Formats: sequence, C-alpha cells, structure tokens
Amino acid sequence: MGQIRVLDEHIANQIAAGEVVERPASVVKELVENAIDAKSSRIDIHIGEGGLEYIRVQDNGQGIAADDCETAFYRHATSKLTDDRDLYQITSLGFRGEALPSIAAVSKVELLSSATDDGAGRRLVIEGGTLKVNEDEAAPRGTDFRVNSLFYNTPARLKYMKTVQTELGHISDVMYRMSLAHPEIAFTFRHNGNLLLQTPGTGDMLQVIAAVYGTSAAKMVLPLEGENLDYQIGGYIGRPEISKSSRNAMSIVVNGRYIRNYAVNQAILRAYHTLLPINRYPLAVLQLTMHPSLVDVNVHPSKMEVRFSKEAELMLFVEEAIRQTLRKEILIPHATKQT
Ligand code: ADP
Ligand code: MG
Repeated sequence: MGQIRVLDEHIANQIAAGEVVERPASVVKELVENAIDAKSSRIDIHIGEGGLEYIRVQDNGQGIAADDCETAFYRHATSKLTDDRDLYQITSLGFRGEALPSIAAVSKVELLSSATDDGAGRRLVIEGGTLKVNEDEAAPRGTDFRVNSLFYNTPARLKYMKTVQTELGHISDVMYRMSLAHPEIAFTFRHNGNLLLQTPGTGDMLQVIAAVYGTSAAKMVLPLEGENLDYQIGGYIGRPEISKSSRNAMSIVVNGRYIRNYAVNQAILRAYHTLLPINRYPLAVLQLTMHPSLVDVNVHPSKMEVRFSKEAELMLFVEEAIRQTLRKEILIPHATKQT
C-alpha cells in the first residue's frame, strides 16, 4: 500500500490561507479587489481593532447569484477565468479563486449578497471553513462581506500579529493605494467607527490625492503623460519640494492593479536624480496601461508582484516620461533656484 494521500479540502485551504492571508490587510485587499472586479461604484470598508475583531466590506456591485454563494467558497472556484488562454490575458484583479476559501478557513465569515434588483438575496455563515447557514434573505444588489475573529483557529498566526496600530497602518496603506488606483470608485474607510478616508468617486485622481495626502500636497503635483506603441503612462508626480521620507509615497498601478516593483521605483528615482536629497522619495502615482500579455500577474499568490515581458524598455519609458515632466515644469533645477 502506498503512503501518499491527497490532502482534504479543509487542510488544503488552511495551507493556502498561510500564503494568501498573511495579516488583516491581506483580507481587506482581497475583499476590496473582489468588490472592484464586481464593477462597484461605491465600496464601504469598516474595520474593528486593526482588523482582528472585524473587517466588513460592502459594495454595490454585481453581487453573487444565490446558487453561486456556496460555490464561491470552494477552492479554485472563480467566475473570472473561463479557459486557459485567459491566464495570459488577465484583465480582472482576481483569477485564482483562492481568497474566499482561504479567508473562510481562518475566520468566521458572514456573506449577504444579491445579484438582482428584486430585493432577494442569500446569506451564508461559515466558521473555520465549515458552512453553518445558507438561507434566503432580503438584500439590496451588491455584496456585504464580514470577516470576524480573524485567525481565531490558528493561534500561531494570531500570536504573530503586531499591535492594532501596526495592522491598521498596513490596512491604511492598502486603502490608499486601492483608492488611488480607482478614482472612479467612491470609497469610505472607517476604523472603530472613525472615518479615516473618503473619496468622491468622480474619476479625478487629483481629488483622491487630496483625500490621501492632503489638499496642500495635491497642489504640488504635476500631471504625467506619455505613450509609445506598447505603453501608456498617466497619473501625477510630486514637485521635489514635497519629498517624503518613505518609498511608500510611490504608488504604481498597472492596468488598474496596484503593484510593488523595485525596478519601477528605481526608474522613478533615476528620473528625479539630483532633484531629491539623499533618502528622500517623491510622491508619485503612476498609472501604467499596457496590453495584458506584456505583464505576468501570476507570479505570487498575493498578486502584488508582477513580471514585465520587456522590462528594460518599460523602465526607460517610465524614466523618460517623468524626466520630461520635471524638465518642462521645473525649468530651473531646484538646487540653483534663487529664494
Ligand atoms: P477570484 O477573485 O480569484 O475569482 P475569490 O475567492 O476572491 O476568487 O472569489 C470567488 C468568486 O466569488 C469570484 O470569482 C466572484 O465570482 C465571487 N465574488 C467574490 N466576491 C464578490 C463580490 N464582492 N461581488 C461579486 N462577486 C464576488
Ligand atoms: Mg478575489
């Protein structure tokens, strides 16, 4: 008799959760991405105690059909990929079908969703991956997703969590970037009932920059524009005078997905070159658009890292677009400007 067995779904989900759900901010990111993929025009996020007590994401998007609600929590269940060619042309934020089963495996989840305008909806309660309730319930179109007691059944992970302030910091970072990546969506973000961020959802990125970094910072940014055969760039970059002490003030959005990318960060810094003092970073929100085949997002479960197929060309393009904007607007280099 052989000794190799296929893991049951429950254990497999717990293992996947270790990768997908690193901390409360990962849950917020996955739920907000789902709300964006559902074409919501408004998304309200409520967090309790750094996300360890509760995380609630309400959207007015397409909703989940009553018959699909349970399936949505199965491993590798997704409505976003239909055939394998789609994997090379990803246009949605999600595609792996891993978030909901992973989140549900390590928390107590309550889902209320409706995909129709007739007021009929479905409510599910899942605790530690076990379905407790699946019943009809009245709901407006959209999805209301609550995650309570995150990591209640994985004490090792819970112990690793930092203070409420640290977890809130990570969640705020996710919320800032999500709202910068989607100025067309009206976001509210509350922690312990206090409103921390509100964006108008008008599509004007400058208004989101004002909401995130303050109105005075929004007056100190320059619009970025450029395109070649492969790439298009938009967004805003800060005047050197409003440099920041953290790299976090550089946000990169590729086809509506915010990403982390060392090479793009370096291209931005090269463009500023001597305009910034040592260890200072520019405020920058880069919106890059390219054909989905030029960027591989299937690199890591969190989908935050990507691989560009023509990285060197892209970096030159980014650097040149930023340099030209700075050159046009700041005719005299900052260092020699008379005060
Ligand atoms: P993925 O996003 O990779 O498809 P998820 O596990 O995050 O996988 O979600 C599974 C499925 O549940 C999605 O493909 C989608 O059909 C549905 N879903 C999840 N959240 C929402 C939402 N807020 N609105 C509408 N549908 C949703
Ligand atoms: Mg998803």
